[in-house]
Amino acid sequence: MIQFEHVYKTYPEGNKALQDVNLHIKKGEFVFILGHSGAGKSTFLKLILREEAATEGKIKVNGFDLTNIKKRRIPYLRRSMGVVFQDFRLIPTLSVYENVAFAMRVTNVKESEIKKRVGYVLSLVGLSHKKDVYPTLLSGGEQQRVALARALAHSPKLIIADEPTGNIDPEMSMEMMELLTAVNSVGTTVVVVTHEHDLAHRFNKRIITIDHGTVVGDELPCAYTRGGRA
Ligand code: ADP
Repeated sequence: MIQFEHVYKTYPEGNKALQDVNLHIKKGEFVFILGHSGAGKSTFLKLILREEAATEGKIKVNGFDLTNIKKRRIPYLRRSMGVVFQDFRLIPTLSVYENVAFAMRVTNVKESEIKKRVGYVLSLVGLSHKKDVYPTLLSGGEQQRVALARALAHSPKLIIADEPTGNIDPEMSMEMMELLTAVNSVGTTVVVVTHEHDLAHRFNKRIITIDHGTVVGDELPCAYTRGGRA
């Protein structure tokens, strides 16, 4: 699903953001990517989304080999995942319904299908009753749930949440984590990127820790280690 082999990313200014990163996130996993500010988390995300290319090494995401990916294939790569950005990135001039539907209109999906799917994902995140509201009238937690609904709109195999607790209060954070857990329980791979040590350790999930651009820890959930894998 996500595979990094000896990945290096050096920015033109000479900043070594990632160095010899090796990791494998399998289909259906729930993984935290944990690291302090400057550790390389955003760079990791940008590489997965192919907003940046690796300087060295091999990256595979959802069956796409990013080493030599053609430009015209990049939108397909991006559509194979759903990202909940830290700042939500909703369009303020569109209603909740339209924000979610918008993402589906770029593909050739029939309007009747869009209506069904948008209704479904909004009900999943508990916002059916706010479908005609504009994002500015929603709380931070609600905006984030719209962002999750939009990320889920084209049934991606992979959901990435970037600092999901960054812009909302603790209660809403827990709600978002519960929604992500529910999404994961039906088979979607979930990757949560965070700098919050406490958040990552509150759940019994795999935690990949990045520090100064390298993977310094990869802890599996307890059930796995007890199962005798070690
Ligand atoms: P994090 O998301 O964990 O805070 P980043 O991936 O943003 O970490 O940054 C990792 C390192 O790469 C930092 O030293 C940062 O200054 C550097 N960096 C990030 N983006 C750029 C860029 N566009 N140009 C140059 N250096 C960058």
